[in-house]
Amino acid sequence: MVLFDNHNHSEFSFDGKRTSVEKSVLEAAAKGLGGIAFTDHCDYFVPEMKAAYENLVPETFDIAGQQAEIDRVQDMVSSVKILKGIEIGMHEDCHEQIRKTLTDNSFDQVIASVHYLDGIDPFYGGYYEDKDWKEAYGHYLETIFKEMTWLKDFDIMGHFDYVVRYAPYPQCCLRYRDFSDILDEMFRYLIQEGKALEINTKSYQNYHGREVSIDMDVLARYREMGGEAISLGSDSHDPERVGHNFMNSVSMLKSLGFRWTSHYESRRLVQLPI
Ligand SMILES: [Zn+2]
Repeated sequence: MVLFDNHNHSEFSFDGKRTSVEKSVLEAAAKGLGGIAFTDHCDYFVPEMKAAYENLVPETFDIAGQQAEIDRVQDMVSSVKILKGIEIGMHEDCHEQIRKTLTDNSFDQVIASVHYLDGIDPFYGGYYEDKDWKEAYGHYLETIFKEMTWLKDFDIMGHFDYVVRYAPYPQCCLRYRDFSDILDEMFRYLIQEGKALEINTKSYQNYHGREVSIDMDVLARYREMGGEAISLGSDSHDPERVGHNFMNSVSMLKSLGFRWTSHYESRRLVQLPI
């Protein structure tokens, strides 16, 4: 079985200083992965509080530099296919810049995700203060849906349950039964447009005593609606996280009747049997 890790950050991401294209590729080779995609952060909107803390606006990267480094490392390592990607942070205030970045550059695959909403980074709290869990999670899903149907130009919907990672609530899982309407709308869109749903294995770990998990019913429903394209991503910012927990995800996918994992090369869907 050949697996690709489709969501990794490198030294080209603002928060990727602990790793590099070269280190992560060598790790992918050591772990027997068939491919690795570098999807460095590109967020044109950065909340004021975070911008002050990190002294970096926007949180984007040197695309040409990243792609040249990928070419250099690919010449050294032939056992792993290295894909050129981007994780585009969707935000309503930056549509023009987002569109231009995707039009002006070539990528193998584009992950679309939401990191900041209502002017806030959920990582730093604040977002949750005036909301109960249902409102906080639901509003995040609605924001992804609104932005991705505007964007259209992407391949993979990134970490749909990112909002759960840093939440203060005992609800550690975004359950299908609580958000069935909006999840159905998202899945219908992804399936119709040939895009993939991401399993982001970084989301499923212990965050300050909260054991975040994925709801199997979410994946089961996607499959039931005809969804077949699932992208596995570790969201690594450290080489040792490359491919993290993939075998658990693969057994879960198999048990639900999925037959492939998916990634994109030159923006075209590639399916690998599991
Ligand atoms: Zn992300």
